[in-house]
Amino acid sequence: MADGGLARVRTPGGRLSADQARAVANAAETLGSGVIDLTNRANLQIRGLPLDAGPGLGERLAAVGLYTGGEADRRRNVLLDPLAGLDPMEVVDLRPLASAVADALGSSDFAADLSPKFSVALDGGGRAGLAATASDLTLLAFRDGEGRVALALALASRPLGVATRPEAAVAAILAVAGAAAALGPDTRARDLAPHVVAADLVASGLAATGADVAWPSEVRPIFGALPPSRSRSRAAVAIPVAVGRLDARQLRWLADRADQDGDGALVLAPWSAVVLPGVAPGRTADLLRQSEAAGFPPVAVVERLTVVACAGAPSCVRAREPAKAVGLALLARAAASGLAPLARVHLSACGKGCAGPADADLLLLGASDAPGWTLHARAAPRRPGPVLGRLPAADADAILDWLQRRG
Ligand code: SF4
Repeated sequence: MADGGLARVRTPGGRLSADQARAVANAAETLGSGVIDLTNRANLQIRGLPLDAGPGLGERLAAVGLYTGGEADRRRNVLLDPLAGLDPMEVVDLRPLASAVADALGSSDFAADLSPKFSVALDGGGRAGLAATASDLTLLAFRDGEGRVALALALASRPLGVATRPEAAVAAILAVAGAAAALGPDTRARDLAPHVVAADLVASGLAATGADVAWPSEVRPIFGALPPSRSRSRAAVAIPVAVGRLDARQLRWLADRADQDGDGALVLAPWSAVVLPGVAPGRTADLLRQSEAAGFPPVAVVERLTVVACAGAPSCVRAREPAKAVGLALLARAAASGLAPLARVHLSACGKGCAGPADADLLLLGASDAPGWTLHARAAPRRPGPVLGRLPAADADAILDWLQRRG
């Protein structure tokens, strides 16, 4: 990395305690540049680390249970709906399953042979539509014809037409992950034959045919106050994080608020937000106001203007343009003007598209070998299509102006 080393802190299920969050903030500040990214798989990345920071960082994270050591740590890629246990629409709360899957993957006898990119997504059937996230293996909860909870399975985002039961889900996930690992550490779910995987799961009694469930087509980000429900007397707040970038001070602020206003937990959302559960219903509005003072964007802005940005310069050696900085400036300008357009903007400093594959209303695409950006409408970095124009340097006013002229 151009700005130093990068450490990924895996938070299976996206959950961490206030003490764990403070440990990450302190490590980022004392060992790195103080910059922390919240990824679109709900993990944290500590940036700007010297090359010899590994052992010291590992010790600090292990002391708070955020690093299990060795190869096993990299196999705990479990993405859970951040609203699990909070969403009154969900079919089932999959938090216990997320913990069990993370533990089982990390301690499996094939862990060393499993691709560190092999990912599992768990969607309890809530309104966020987490199952639309691209993952190697996805489980989506639904109720079958007899009203029982079942979990439909998809491989590389392709539904398999089979479903498992909650009590068999860990074994079913291990069976698929084990099949991938058996083919070598570069094997991903897309390399497996879906009909063979489905048939093996059914033959082993881990799943049954018949998974009559509507799969969500896109994730629906949720920000702001989440009121109490029939099963929950406390509220929660989903605080937006502009382009997924935090500094140590902001992460510490969130940890303090989780302790003082919430139940001591932070939940990372893959749509660049941090959820604080266990908040008194009367405190949510004030907490959101305070979050703006702490440098987080207003909910009213991010609900209209979605900005995604790759790490960009100076973090990435392939980047010439500061994608995150432009994204931050764009959201700040939209908030200050009170005129956030209803649009999705993607800033990608090269064609690799690390911030995601989805189409945006406006794509600003940089290049590794030349400064400046090209503009593209309804495009993604890997399929940019026609060039609408060029910007020698992206400035927030020019982007807002383009969006407003588009109507
Ligand atoms: S999209 Fe390109 S420039 Fe941006 S972080 Fe990825 S590799 Fe680096």
